Amino acid sequence: MTITRTDWSEKINPTVQNIPPSGIRRFFDLVTETKGVISLGVGEPDFVTPWHVREACIYSLEKGYTMYTSNSGLLELREALAVDLDNTYHVKYNPRTELLITVGVSEALDLCMRTLLQSGDEVLIPEPSYVSYAPCTVLAGGVPVFMSTGMDDSFRITADLVQSSITPRTKVLLLCYPNNPTGAVMDRDELEKIAEVAVEHDLIVISDEIYDRLTYIGKHTCMAALPGMKDRTLLLNGFSKAYAMTGWRVGYVAGNPDFIAAMTKIHQYSMLCAPITGQMAALEALKNGQPGMRRMVEHYNRRRNMVVQAFRDMGLPCFEPGGAFYAFPQTSVTGLCSEDFAEELLKEEQVAVVPGNVFGTSGEGFVRVSYAASLDDLSEAFRRMGRFVRRRGVRSRLISAPIKIQRPERAGISQSL
Ligand code: PLP
Repeated sequence: MTITRTDWSEKINPTVQNIPPSGIRRFFDLVTETKGVISLGVGEPDFVTPWHVREACIYSLEKGYTMYTSNSGLLELREALAVDLDNTYHVKYNPRTELLITVGVSEALDLCMRTLLQSGDEVLIPEPSYVSYAPCTVLAGGVPVFMSTGMDDSFRITADLVQSSITPRTKVLLLCYPNNPTGAVMDRDELEKIAEVAVEHDLIVISDEIYDRLTYIGKHTCMAALPGMKDRTLLLNGFSKAYAMTGWRVGYVAGNPDFIAAMTKIHQYSMLCAPITGQMAALEALKNGQPGMRRMVEHYNRRRNMVVQAFRDMGLPCFEPGGAFYAFPQTSVTGLCSEDFAEELLKEEQVAVVPGNVFGTSGEGFVRVSYAASLDDLSEAFRRMGRFVRRRGVRSRLISAPIKIQRPERAGISQSL
């Protein structure tokens, strides 16, 4: 029998074929090839999951909790989440019908898109945006429509911007505040106006609130807690960031019971359930992890102040992030585009940051710097970055682009994913 090679390029679904791999991943292949690198690139807490959480999970394994849970997740965890949401935001969810435990916010986002979108439905996404939003939209048959923000508007959207981005095909408004990659937070007044627009145009709001507890300026407003918004909001959250639990893979969606039931069908056939060990750990984090979480947040806040000041001292304009653990300094003042800045910094000074253009075209001219790193690493990284910026020199501040909407054909979607 003659062996013929399969032409996989013909077999792979073109929608998947056309999606570029994450720009962050491509950049981090470079990082692993370079010695002595201080990485301020990954969006991951530098803390290990608190000991009491790890211990609770060890006990659960000793007791033999190694099986599937219900598709919806452990009822005890859903009950604890319902209490937590009520205590924090005064929004009541029925743990049996309005909560689904997922494999991180990542799965939650994918499920929301696949359950909501039909071919051609438009999803409004503030940009710069987290790298998964546009690909998950496209994979579900939707069309991402980016709403550009810049440093001059503190990387916030406005109700007017949302209003002017709406077409008859707009179905979803996807929000992420505090924001990855900019650290921007929204104030309640503007969110209320945005909520009115969502109601007027019958939009579903997907609110990714994975950084809600990491808010340093003002008080976080939960979209679902605004008047009339609980039923049209899909609230996404998880344990990765606030509780330093990225590897446990636990997140959740809170929302309308019919929608949760529909999502659960995809979840039960594709994922079955989130891992029980992670769910046990999440339960412990919710019950006893609040003081530890608050201590971590205090650490991030101290580093945030130091990082913003350090960028400004070296002449890079840096907007003050109100949440998450990222700074987004403007590096175009060195005359380098985002990719060149990040690559040359890595090669010359062995410091890894993420080029802003991987978060979309309006991220060009910036880099994302995670300050979820030890103070020692941050101090050394800033010494090296200062040296690098001094060598390049700093030109006068470039004014960031005015707010604009990027329709897909103009946005060059494949580049900005
Ligand atoms: N949403 C945002 C905004 C993120 O920054 C991340 C991770 O970086 C995720 C979702 C994914 O979170 P999880 O670990 O819960 O899948």
